[in-house]
Amino acid sequence: MKQSFFLVLTILAVTGCTNRNSVKTNSPFNKIEAIEEKYQPLPLTEVKPQGWINEQIRKNLDGFVGRLDTLVPQLIRDDKIYGESRLTKKVKNKEVGALCDAGDWQVQFLWWNSETQSNWRDGYLRSAILLNDKQHLSNLQKYVDYILSTQDKDGYLGIYDKDLRYRFDNENGELWAKATLLRGLLAWYEQTKDQKILSAIERAAQNVIDNYPAFHSHPFYSKQPNVGGTSHGLMITDVFENLFRITGKETYREYCLFLYQDFSEQELNESAQYKKLMNDTLLLSSHGVHVYEHLRSVAAAYYASGNPQLKIALDKFLNKINDETTASGAGVGDEWIGGKKADATKRGYEYCSLQELMHSYLELLLKTGNNTFADQAETIFFNAAQGARHPSESCIAYLKSDNSYYMTGGLNGDNSNKKQTRYTYSPVHQEAAVCCVPNAGRIAPYYVQHMWMKHNQSLVASLLGPCVVTTTVNSHRVTITEKTNYPFENTIEFVVSADSEFDLKIRKPGWVTKFSVDTEYIEEDGYVVIRKNWKGSQSVKINFIPEIVERKDINHENYFTYGALVLASPLAAREEKTKTFAIPGFYNFKYSPKHLKTYWYAGYPVVAVQNNPLIFKTILLNDSTHQKETVELVPMGNTILRQVTFKDPPH
Ligand SMILES: [Zn+2]
Repeated sequence: MKQSFFLVLTILAVTGCTNRNSVKTNSPFNKIEAIEEKYQPLPLTEVKPQGWINEQIRKNLDGFVGRLDTLVPQLIRDDKIYGESRLTKKVKNKEVGALCDAGDWQVQFLWWNSETQSNWRDGYLRSAILLNDKQHLSNLQKYVDYILSTQDKDGYLGIYDKDLRYRFDNENGELWAKATLLRGLLAWYEQTKDQKILSAIERAAQNVIDNYPAFHSHPFYSKQPNVGGTSHGLMITDVFENLFRITGKETYREYCLFLYQDFSEQELNESAQYKKLMNDTLLLSSHGVHVYEHLRSVAAAYYASGNPQLKIALDKFLNKINDETTASGAGVGDEWIGGKKADATKRGYEYCSLQELMHSYLELLLKTGNNTFADQAETIFFNAAQGARHPSESCIAYLKSDNSYYMTGGLNGDNSNKKQTRYTYSPVHQEAAVCCVPNAGRIAPYYVQHMWMKHNQSLVASLLGPCVVTTTVNSHRVTITEKTNYPFENTIEFVVSADSEFDLKIRKPGWVTKFSVDTEYIEEDGYVVIRKNWKGSQSVKINFIPEIVERKDINHENYFTYGALVLASPLAAREEKTKTFAIPGFYNFKYSPKHLKTYWYAGYPVVAVQNNPLIFKTILLNDSTHQKETVELVPMGNTILRQVTFKDPPH
């Protein structure tokens, strides 16, 4: 059946039904002229985390990031899904780590472990590289050697045996298994500069192009529209874009345009398809993680084509995402967005979505230089992402909401579905899926890598925080140490070691209204630019003066920020340890409030508590007693149960 299906597709392709030349001249997928990206990314090896970010990555590496393969060995160590255990028609069942409903399934659907393994390893190897952890790097070298040994002569790297690969008319993980794997291998190449790795990645990419020829094949064709793995597969644009950046080969970038075209033209339940983006009456509705990651594929297609119609689609996409965004910067989806707008209490967000949306904003920052995208990435990382990881234990929330009153399984205490365990803390979340924990290990390394970018003759401090960058600008070596505890303090000292002339561009966060710099500078497009012939070691100190600001979320609920930090009223919680893992120090937890008190906004100012720079107080209205109470506010990143937004009292 599948053979004859492919024969039909081939005939259609050859006869020109899908030929590029036959597309209408006003097609949004016509290439006009590719657009150059404004900033250039730095390789992972050139920025090293310091201070609190370094401590967090260390803690991850000593915790769920370094140990996930021993916490869920059956999903990782025991399943050589890219090698000896590639999926074949002969496989009749498989442990995928979740409570699946029995039903109509095919072996090609069983790609889940590839995502768990490769997203986990991507975060793991990036963390080990950033911390230069020799023991973990040595373990990872063995893994990379093993993966390279699984590559077939024709370049195939992936999870399907020859009887299945590239022959699908339904759900499959062909491109997604490669996207997650190759993103990690690209990081390993950045670390080792080993041409053997780059060559393996390019051969794997060529194998995709050979089997899914650009504009003459349909990798996203499916006879039914709900296809998680197939749709995730669009993210192989991450790999092709990076290969374009490394090699300069335009074919790689054009392939992203083809992928987005085919994705848009198939019958799929995906909100990022071109026609759906252009329809202003449609809210985003499909699976949240897909939507937030697909944002970068739309951006990739626009930059590959320069087609203004794709620019319009991209802008509409960003507006639609705005409707799904909470105060903490998160894009909602639990797990579906479902055509309903964000809500601080009634909508949850998935940890996977936090990483994917932040990564998409970082790609948009690279492309446009527009520092609004940096503000959005910082908001997610400092607030939603910190606020969905446990403050002291090595575990995370799979789903979380800004106003989080219970973490006992369902959203804010709704435990009507006994199988719902996502609103709890776990180092694995195996009952749901081991997707969020791997992504919780990726988010900090992706943040760190994008803290610095290059732009012509300048070095750009694009995201702020403690780090050291060592790179070359105009062929001269430059090291800059960023001394700060940002965003918990707002003074940053840049210690520059260089003997050359270049511009140091420091992003001025969107929240800044007052600041001072202790040297001569100009302001340009939201950046503080210091033009200098640098000699030896020189220091630049910049002081962003934070204010407490009252803001409104998309539902006009009130919340407060202090600099880049979103504040919350913390709720004392009762902890229940629901599982102790065989590996010491790892647990699942549930939390319920000791005394649930929630508040309305009362119009009073927020003031800092003396001698405590990150503790604040305000007066709010208790929504049960209607009495005014003095309430403490702290950064939401340190909280488990909390209230972030405060409605106006009913009239
Ligand atoms: Zn997830």
